[in-house]
Amino acid sequence: MTALYLNHRWKNKNIKVSLIESADIGIIGVGEGSTPSLKNFFDDIEIKESEWMPQCQATYKVGIRFDNWSTQPGFESYRHPFPSQVDKFSSDLFAKQLHIRRHGIDVEVHPDKFFIQSQLAMEKKGPIAPYHFPLENAYGYHFDSGLLGQYLAEIARLRGIGHIQAKVTDALLNNNGMISTLVTEENTQINADFFIDCTGFVGFLIQKKLQIPFISFSDNLFNDSAVVIPTPANKTINSETVSTALQHGWAWDIPLQHRTGNGYVYSSAYCDQTSAETELRKKLNLLDSDIGARHLKMKVGRVSQHWSKNCLAIGLSQGFIEPLEATALHLVQATILEFIIQFEKGNFTNQFQSQFNDTINNRFEGVRDYIVAHYRLNTRTDTQYWLDNANNPKISESLTRILQSWTGALGHDIEPEIIQQNIAGYFPVDSWRILLAGYGFFPALDHNHPQQGNIDHTEIENHQAFLKRCGVNFKTQNALLIN
Ligand SMILES: Cc1cc2nc3c(=O)[nH]c(=O)nc-3n(C[C@H](O)[C@H](O)[C@H](O)COP(=O)(O)OP(=O)(O)OC[C@H]3O[C@@H](n4cnc5c(N)ncnc54)[C@H](O)[C@@H]3O)c2cc1C
Repeated sequence: MTALYLNHRWKNKNIKVSLIESADIGIIGVGEGSTPSLKNFFDDIEIKESEWMPQCQATYKVGIRFDNWSTQPGFESYRHPFPSQVDKFSSDLFAKQLHIRRHGIDVEVHPDKFFIQSQLAMEKKGPIAPYHFPLENAYGYHFDSGLLGQYLAEIARLRGIGHIQAKVTDALLNNNGMISTLVTEENTQINADFFIDCTGFVGFLIQKKLQIPFISFSDNLFNDSAVVIPTPANKTINSETVSTALQHGWAWDIPLQHRTGNGYVYSSAYCDQTSAETELRKKLNLLDSDIGARHLKMKVGRVSQHWSKNCLAIGLSQGFIEPLEATALHLVQATILEFIIQFEKGNFTNQFQSQFNDTINNRFEGVRDYIVAHYRLNTRTDTQYWLDNANNPKISESLTRILQSWTGALGHDIEPEIIQQNIAGYFPVDSWRILLAGYGFFPALDHNHPQQGNIDHTEIENHQAFLKRCGVNFKTQNALLIN
């Protein structure tokens, strides 16, 4: 992705981009869900869906469903849909209902009832609006990450990007501490002006060679391990990722054309590999099956500086926030695009390096808050893992303020708080409202003395009928993939 973006942007500037990778080391090979920003990537580098999707067994994604994270009656499952232009008819009504419910009056507040893409997910429909339908949906994809990597590498070769198969064993620094040369296993030396570290969790250049400190998020994101088991594709393909809370973490279900990707992300402090694999196998009805499982370790956190000297870290080498909202490739894109802006603005010098690092660090922190909120708001009591997550005192001040704005403790509502924190670009206020409402995070209702309000229930009924009528215009995932 990085090589293609840089090459696309700077092809007329006499800048030569080369990609080095080692088949011996390989790729992590997981990461099969995206946010809508992946569509921007393909649009930017001018590759059509009809070209890349079939080659990567990709499907359309309208959002994520969260099952069993909350035990609040009526909120055992909810969806976080991607935005849609239809939302302008939904958001105000949703905000109004939430306001009434937070003042103790029992009205409909389940997020699934308000948003078009949740309606589409329920009907296993895709997000592509037909020609005659005037409003568009943002959407992401599910894809085979191994195939996507190979596809992009092939496109890169066709576009003249150098591709070197070699294992880098050392990096030489000059007197200013800048990287001058990479040394390969065969003792070849590769010189360049600028180096992008895409070496995965090891962070070969940024962490190992330049010694940039890694800031762990393990205080409030406990998961550090995953086990992965693929299963055959379903005949009727879902258009959403399903994230199901299990005893010590959560399991993803990602529908691709040729298989379903499944994995269990868990904390090794609470659960060992064998128990995690058994729990996932049980969920998938594979206890007696000999389908193999892959076990992975995850390093959750970020480097303190993503760009240091003449080195930029992108991908797992710069950091990783666990995959609950599939934000890693989104952060990859955000990093590349911000780097291009700041490097060009500084006339290809390090002039705006610290501004860049602040922007990317804020982005990591903003995304982290949203992910941590899922754990904080869980109401499960079945294991110590969930109790510790719900009671974890080490949550950031920014997240604390968001929760306080929701409960009314700050004197202003959540929307001004999100604006004040300048984080709507990561997760907009609708996403925060959906999360908080989706967990059923409301004051208890007093059923003995129900509060009366002058509530117009037909408004919500009409809205649901409107969403269903909108949904009629869309095709199922299966039908979209055949066309
Ligand atoms: C459990 C899990 C689930 C995930 N789910 C999602 C998701 O749903 N959505 C999402 O967006 N992201 C997800 N991610 C993150 C996603 O997998 C990564 O962001 C993505 O695959 C990019 O990885 P990478 O290129 O940074 O690292 P890697 O895939 O590890 O690639 C590293 C590359 O560097 C090369 N390399 C390393 N060292 C050397 C060396 N010394 N010499 C030469 N070459 C070298 C390797 O050969 C390889 O090509 C997930 C991650 C995990 C762990």
